[in-house]
Amino acid sequence: MTQAKGTTGRLLADRYRLGEILGQGGMGTVWRAVDETLGREVAVKELRFPGNVDDDEKRRLITRTLREAKATARIRSTGAVTVYDVVEEDNRPWIVMELVEGRSLSDAIRLDGPLGSRRAAEVGLAVLDVLRAAHREGILHRDVKPSNVLIADDGRVVLTDFGIAQVEGDPSVTSTGMLVGAPSYISPERARGQKPGPASDLWSLGALLYAAVEGRPPYDRGAAIATLTAVMTEPLESPSCGGALADAITGLLIKDPAKRLDDKAVRTLLTEAATGPETPPGESTKTLTVPADPQPLPTDAGPALRSAAAEDKVLGSLRSVRNAAARREPAAGATTFRAPSGVQAPLMDLVSRRTMVIVAMVVLAIVGTLLVILLTHTGGNGSGSSGSSGNGKGAAPSQSLGGTPTQSAADVTNGIPAGFVRYQNDQYHFALDLPANWHRIAVAGQNSGVIFAAMGGTYPRVQIDYTSQPRPDAAAAWRQEEPAVAQSSTDYHLLGIRTVHYRDFTTVADWEFTRVQGGTPMHVLNRGMANSRAGYAVMFTCPTANWDATGCSRLRQVFFSSFTPLG
Ligand code: ATP
Ligand code: MG
Repeated sequence: MTQAKGTTGRLLADRYRLGEILGQGGMGTVWRAVDETLGREVAVKELRFPGNVDDDEKRRLITRTLREAKATARIRSTGAVTVYDVVEEDNRPWIVMELVEGRSLSDAIRLDGPLGSRRAAEVGLAVLDVLRAAHREGILHRDVKPSNVLIADDGRVVLTDFGIAQVEGDPSVTSTGMLVGAPSYISPERARGQKPGPASDLWSLGALLYAAVEGRPPYDRGAAIATLTAVMTEPLESPSCGGALADAITGLLIKDPAKRLDDKAVRTLLTEAATGPETPPGESTKTLTVPADPQPLPTDAGPALRSAAAEDKVLGSLRSVRNAAARREPAAGATTFRAPSGVQAPLMDLVSRRTMVIVAMVVLAIVGTLLVILLTHTGGNGSGSSGSSGNGKGAAPSQSLGGTPTQSAADVTNGIPAGFVRYQNDQYHFALDLPANWHRIAVAGQNSGVIFAAMGGTYPRVQIDYTSQPRPDAAAAWRQEEPAVAQSSTDYHLLGIRTVHYRDFTTVADWEFTRVQGGTPMHVLNRGMANSRAGYAVMFTCPTANWDATGCSRLRQVFFSSFTPLG
């Protein structure tokens, strides 16, 4: 039992019986399934279309998925996930592939902490092998990052998700000219909009190795725009591992692709590191921020993107010429990155106006491409509950939020209020009742959590973040995060950071504020909570005008009363 909406147990193409959810990414859901014809277990990746994607976009996404399958099938390497089949059903593609029993590298880092130098080097060598095989076929991976590396229980390392791979000469890709990927793992030349080559994948491998030993990628500045700026302009903070592994990482993270280490040189260094003395995981794990940031930044890059007049101009003109994807609010998923506390410098201080324009374009390209998949919204405005009573000011995050739902028993089935369905997420270890027409619209942060909203809407929304390494004091953590959020938000007003009691968490704090998102004043309640095992943040956002209206208060009440940690 994993997700509501009845897909589990479904027989796909008369052959593949879907089981539990193995993971969810920006592009869709990956299921464990049984191939009933051959009697073996497989993994099935379902590509989800947002509700309002038009037929052209659907076609483009289907083409892209088929390309992913074709690209992967062409790579001859034991380290590339094997694709068995592609099925088109429900007007969308499902990729049937080899089931890798294990977990992703990002989960491994998040749950167990960074890798020692030998194991990191082994993982690096395995990924390098696949990249070499792919590059020989003229295929770039383009999305090398820890969540796309699967570590099988038997130790095998498998690179997956060639979803944004570009096969040389495939016109359907080159025509889009879009930039896709996770900002922290995108090479400087790609961030600048230059045509990437094999060296770009190697840069991403360097970032992946850095994250493997340090617990966080080399550049992560919260908002995508600031991260990309850092990737392009900032010197590398040396990895703490030292030795040949550090040489490999710093050599891969050379900004100039012409000077970057090539496959052969990296292979030599990684081989040396894999057999050399073990260096324990990086000291920096003490201040681990990504991918296991204890407290997610409850923001998105929307306000950051709008914070400078120059950007507004660029975004405005680009918006007008781009398709529906670009008109969506540049809010979630691709641009929702948590910042290490206090490092979110004012954008205009960081970069020149010209660089800013380039960065803004790059970010918009990312937003345009990823949000076409992630979001369902074409406007920047809230679309959820109707009615508008109250101004939201002073709407206290009362303790009753965490109490029992007040609806009558007749409205409740199996503890789930009428109109809601129970959602369970095994990746982030929580369960929550969601309105039946809500769905996951994006992945928050660097896979730290998930965001849900109504079909066709972006607000109201709820975002759940999870960490296995919580901070001991929720209120202190929020106070630490607050300046960065205040700085990157439009018209931010703090309503309060208060310690509250909620379930049996040992530390809980409500951070409540207002800000303008997508041109609409929003009211945000972000509840951070932790016990010795896990930390969560449940962030509810609703247009300020509706905060006290029935729709929003009901949602708030059900979310906070039904949220259940499973960690
Ligand atoms: P993004 O969409 O940005 O790539 P992601 O890599 O986290 O994010 P998916 O590629 O959809 O998302 O994969 C989600 C998760 O599913 C992975 O992190 C992994 O844990 C699991 N997974 C993917 N493919 C397989 C597979 N073949 N076998 C087992 N688990 C898999
Ligand atoms: Mg993936």
